[in-house]
Amino acid sequence: MKIGIIGLGLIGGSLALDLKALGHRVWGTSRRPATVQAALAMGAIDEGITHLATIPPDTDLIVICTPIERIVPCLGEMVDYLPAPTIVTDVGSVKAPIVTAGQKLWHRFIGSHPMAGNANSGITAAQRGLFIDRPCAVVGQPEEEIAQIIGALWRSVGMEVYYCEATEHDRAVAWISHLPVMVSASLNLACKEESSDRVQALAANLASSGFADTSRVGGGNPELGRMMAQLNRTALLNALAHYQRVLSNLQHTIEVGAWEDLETMLKEAQSLRQIYIKSC
Ligand code: NAP
Repeated sequence: MKIGIIGLGLIGGSLALDLKALGHRVWGTSRRPATVQAALAMGAIDEGITHLATIPPDTDLIVICTPIERIVPCLGEMVDYLPAPTIVTDVGSVKAPIVTAGQKLWHRFIGSHPMAGNANSGITAAQRGLFIDRPCAVVGQPEEEIAQIIGALWRSVGMEVYYCEATEHDRAVAWISHLPVMVSASLNLACKEESSDRVQALAANLASSGFADTSRVGGGNPELGRMMAQLNRTALLNALAHYQRVLSNLQHTIEVGAWEDLETMLKEAQSLRQIYIKSC
C-alpha cells in the first residue's frame, strides 16, 4: 500500500518506521522541513512532501498524527487534494469531536486511537515496535470496509484492535487516561500544601519509586492535559465526580476508624487493578 503520515513525531514517526519495515511505500509531511529531513535520514519515510497539495495521487491511506488540535484543520486543508478512494484516519486521544467533524469533511474518514506512547516526543523519539501488544480503538463497526482496513493496519504493527462508538471511546478513556492525569496532577499540587518548609524539603528528599509511579502522568505535557479536558469535558467531569465520591468515602472510613471496611475497600482496589492493567 502507499501510505501517508502527517505529523512525524513520536506516534507518526514510529508508525512510519513500522510500516516501511512491513514493505509499504510511505510518504510523510510535518510542520517543520527539518523533521521531514530527519525522517528521511532515519529511513522512516521514502518520500517527504512539503505541501498537502502535492499528496501522491496513488495514496491508499493517510494517518494524521499531528497534535490533537491540528487533526481536523489538517484534514480540512487536504480534502481538496485527496484522491477519492483514499482512506484517512487519525490517532487523536479524544474521538467524538474529531470523528464528527472528520466525517463531515471526508467520506472515507475513520477515527482510531492507538494506546501506545511514552514520555518523549518528536521525531527523535520515534522507535520501531512501539505498538506491539498494545490496544487500539477503531471507531466503527467491524463489518464496515474501511474499519476492516484500518483494523488490519493497526494489527499489522502488533496492536489488539477494539471497535467502538466515539462516545464510548471517550467515556472509557476518561476513566483510564484522563481521570488519572487529573488525579496525579492534584497529588503533585496537594504536596505543596504542607505548612512546614522543613517537612516539605524532607518529603522531596524521601520521595521514591511509589511517588514516581503515582505522580508520573500528572507531571506530563500540560498542553496535552488541557486539550484532553477541553475535548472530553463531559466524560471527564463525570469521572471526576465519581472519583471525589469514592475518595470521600475512603476519607470517612479512616475518620471513623472502620479499619476492616478500609481493608475490604483496599482489597477490592487491589483486584480491580489487575483487570485494568492486564496488558501492561
Ligand atoms: P509529538 O511527538 O509531539 O508529534 C507530533 C508531531 O506533529 C510533532 O513532532 C510536529 O512535528 C508535528 N506537527 C505539529 N503541528 C503540525 C502541523 N500543523 N502539521 C503537520 N505536523 C505537525 O506528539 P505525539 O505524542 O506523537 O502525538 C501525536 C498525536 O498522537 C496526538 O494527536 C495525540 O493525541 C496522539 N497520541 C499520543 C499518544 C502518546 O502517548 N504520545 C498516544 C496515543 C495517541 P514538527 O517537528 O514538524 O513540528
